[in-house]
Amino acid sequence: MECTNLSPADLAARLRDAGLRVTSQRLDVYEALASSGLHLSPEQILARVRGRHPTISANTVYQVLETLVGAGAIRRADTGAGARRYDANMEPHHHLVCTTCGKQVDVPCDEGPTHGHELDDDLGFTIAEARVTYMGTCPDCARAATG
Ligand SMILES: [Zn+2]
Ligand SMILES: [Zn+2]
Repeated sequence: MECTNLSPADLAARLRDAGLRVTSQRLDVYEALASSGLHLSPEQILARVRGRHPTISANTVYQVLETLVGAGAIRRADTGAGARRYDANMEPHHHLVCTTCGKQVDVPCDEGPTHGHELDDDLGFTIAEARVTYMGTCPDCARAATG
């Protein structure tokens, strides 16, 4: 699907716009998540940035991720499948979740932020976003199950 990752310069501008300092930790945590193309937990991101930041802690990675969420650079991917993960894909999209290994995959969606799911006006809600999660088995786990 279309790549929506921010360049380091774009991310730096976004942090400054949000009144935040531009630090190498923030840039590198974002890069680790965005370049993966995956939905990663703080622990998985920690493993990817430790080479450049040997003293960084899991708690610091978590705080950096929440800062990036607040700046609108990434979002939480709460799909109800175990550990919290973060998502650098800010375009409207669905998620496929493997219930065996927890892998999460983006599914393109052309129907806009609400995915075409409009609700009854009587409820009085203005819908900003809809999240659709398909639970199932990924190809790797399906292969493993059949031996
Ligand atoms: Zn799987
Ligand atoms: Zn996603």
